Amino acid sequence: MAFSSSTVLPDHAPSLWAATAPPAPETVQLTDAVQADVVIVGGGVTGLSSALHMAERGISAVVLEAARTGFGGSGRNSGHIIPALGARDPDMLVAKLGADAGERMIAFLRDSASLTFDLIRKYGIDCDAVQNGWAQPAHRASRMKVLERRYEEWTRRQTRVDLLDAGAIADKLGTDVYHGALFMRTGGHVNPLALAQGLARAAMEQGARVYTGSPALSVERADGKWRVATPSGQVIAERLVVATNAYTGALIPQLARSLVRIINYQVSTHPMPKEIAAGVIPSDISSSDTRADLYPFRKDRAGRLVTGATLALPLNMDARIRPWIAERIGNAFPQITDRRLEYVWNGRIALTPNRLPRIHEIGPGAISPIAYNGRGMAIGVAMGRELADWAEGKSADALGLPKLEITPMPFISSLGRLAQAALVRYRQLDARD
Ligand SMILES: Cc1cc2nc3c(=O)[nH]c(=O)nc-3n(C[C@H](O)[C@H](O)[C@H](O)COP(=O)(O)OP(=O)(O)OC[C@H]3O[C@@H](n4cnc5c(N)ncnc54)[C@H](O)[C@@H]3O)c2cc1C
Repeated sequence: MAFSSSTVLPDHAPSLWAATAPPAPETVQLTDAVQADVVIVGGGVTGLSSALHMAERGISAVVLEAARTGFGGSGRNSGHIIPALGARDPDMLVAKLGADAGERMIAFLRDSASLTFDLIRKYGIDCDAVQNGWAQPAHRASRMKVLERRYEEWTRRQTRVDLLDAGAIADKLGTDVYHGALFMRTGGHVNPLALAQGLARAAMEQGARVYTGSPALSVERADGKWRVATPSGQVIAERLVVATNAYTGALIPQLARSLVRIINYQVSTHPMPKEIAAGVIPSDISSSDTRADLYPFRKDRAGRLVTGATLALPLNMDARIRPWIAERIGNAFPQITDRRLEYVWNGRIALTPNRLPRIHEIGPGAISPIAYNGRGMAIGVAMGRELADWAEGKSADALGLPKLEITPMPFISSLGRLAQAALVRYRQLDARD
């Protein structure tokens, strides 16, 4: 994306969230040279929550967003607020990272959804927040063993989690296709774009400066400070945060080459008739089942079903996604007879081979929280508090996500296509016990 001060900003993805979010706060392009304690590149939930938590503590923060607040993954996702990773369970984290870093990360994940909803309540953020819990239902009876282990591992860490039998999850979801579920009580769902924009508003009210249409074009270190240049301005700051996740571009090339990007689609139905909507997810929880080929469901405030999918073959996806998803909806909720889709949009997910979100130190006083592997909403918001601690002097080694070396990979765009194609294998595994 190339911008000048006269450039028209790209619109948000044509999502349900963009159609239903309250107006974003007014923001402008950076056209000056400004100073700050911390310059944050990226105006998604990570960058904006960081700016908010910093501003609360009197740390001056400037956010530079290339497009609009919430333009990246934060405005395009399905809005599930989940206090856990997709592919890494607590004991596995301890085995990989050691007891100290592992348990620190587990506590960080466990508390991330509560922190997100508490922040929403504290600032009265209007984002259709519903904290009724998040369920991971077992799509095959054999997956109950995995969920039992997961339940035991989280319970050992004082997590508010339950193990539901088939009847209990059928009552919550309004479908009897599942064999039971793990249920994390602090989870829930939001309009994610409204959350990002609400964080921007709260951060600005607390004194942070948020510039949109202001891509960081270069970063350099001079006289012990960071200088970040945009097309028509610059920021000089003691510290630098790069919070660009799957939308990381050429600013820090080795960072971009450390992430495998896949395209994930999100869709919503039209508002369901009241009598049907009442029986579909009557508990209004959020849910994504045990398939490796993601199968998420939730409703929005108007009674639309919101779900999503990734296609293995990244060709002609816009046309192929509709029948694919309509079939999925019919499998889980045959009572929904009108399976036409009102909104269809997509976004990029950043994956890493070891599936671990991490922070990278990218220079003295410079940090990047990144690679959320498709679970960055609660983690990104919670990272904001961690980064405010870091800006006050806490070591990067002591934060909630592990500090890892950047590992650039060759042929990174081909790896993205391969990762997408790997779904075929996931589907085979999902069909087995
Ligand atoms: C379709 C989809 C569904 C998902 N579903 C879920 C879900 O239900 N629950 C969940 O927890 N997670 C989900 N995720 C993942 C989640 O959306 C992300 O992990 C999270 O939004 C990352 O937030 P962020 O603030 O770190 O990055 P982003 O929100 O991606 O923000 C990065 C920003 O950086 C900006 N940027 C990039 N380069 C520059 C530059 N040089 N200068 C200035 N700005 C720049 C971009 O414009 C972008 O706005 C999903 C993701 C997608 C795509």
